[in-house]
Amino acid sequence: MTDFAVTFLGTGGTSPSPQRGLPATLFKRGGTKLLVDCGEGTQRQLWISEGGLTDLDAIFLTHYHSDHILGLPGLLNSYQLRGRDRPIPIYGPKPLMRNLNRFRTLMGGHTFSLLRAHELAPGERVDFADGFSVMAVPVQHNRGSGHAFGYRLAEQNRPGRFDVEKAKSLGVHPGPDFGKLQAGHTVRGVKPDDVIGPERPGRTVVISGDTAPTKSIVMAAHEVDLLIHEASLLTLDRDWKEKTEHSTALDAARIAREARVKKLALYHISQRHRAKQVLKEAWNNYMGAIVPNDFDRIDLHLEG
Ligand SMILES: [Zn+2]
Repeated sequence: MTDFAVTFLGTGGTSPSPQRGLPATLFKRGGTKLLVDCGEGTQRQLWISEGGLTDLDAIFLTHYHSDHILGLPGLLNSYQLRGRDRPIPIYGPKPLMRNLNRFRTLMGGHTFSLLRAHELAPGERVDFADGFSVMAVPVQHNRGSGHAFGYRLAEQNRPGRFDVEKAKSLGVHPGPDFGKLQAGHTVRGVKPDDVIGPERPGRTVVISGDTAPTKSIVMAAHEVDLLIHEASLLTLDRDWKEKTEHSTALDAARIAREARVKKLALYHISQRHRAKQVLKEAWNNYMGAIVPNDFDRIDLHLEG
């Protein structure tokens, strides 16, 4: 089975704390390694977590507030210093190039030339190996100066289960005829649908980025295996909600419940809050929600 794992490199938001780094989440699926956001200090978190500076295939940015992007120049400088010549695609909402250009003098021309900027439109999908894809989900944050995205990472559906016993009972023998049925051909009057069940869903994860509670995440996260949602605020901070376009732990829990997600992980935790408080609020609406620590890893398992 292909591995699909999420590692939380930075679970804090806005400012780092001794316990929590700034947003950076590593997704490893088969041989594909993707990073969502690259807060200050991310390369060191990668070293600690992975035992080395993992060669990423792409970086997705949710928006351009400094807590999500300041790790980029250092990370790319290190790649350049150790001789990486494979360009690194950076995806994000508009205006991506204008924001990356701010790093040009910091990085120097050599390092900057490693970047390949791909501005995404809301709903646009990027395909990786083996039917694995990442889709930009528009969210509500930073509306004054551009777009902000969450991302939906998804495997394609898997073929339905092949019922060997039923095939045999219908007179089809193991061997090439099984292959023909699985390839969609009728064999001796037996149709593929007679012996192959419905398609089975691949694994899916949605990461919200920074956002006020929004329907677009409810829709994108419908029945996903894992929703990683920001919980920068608690209900007692409600005065800040309008100003900052963030979510409370209760908002995140309501969204997870409405979307019927299988697991909810809360991140972008403020220094002002303790995990216990965040969990207490979330559990009112979504029992079993978790607040991962930096370096925690969740393995997504295939069902059925
Ligand atoms: Zn943030």
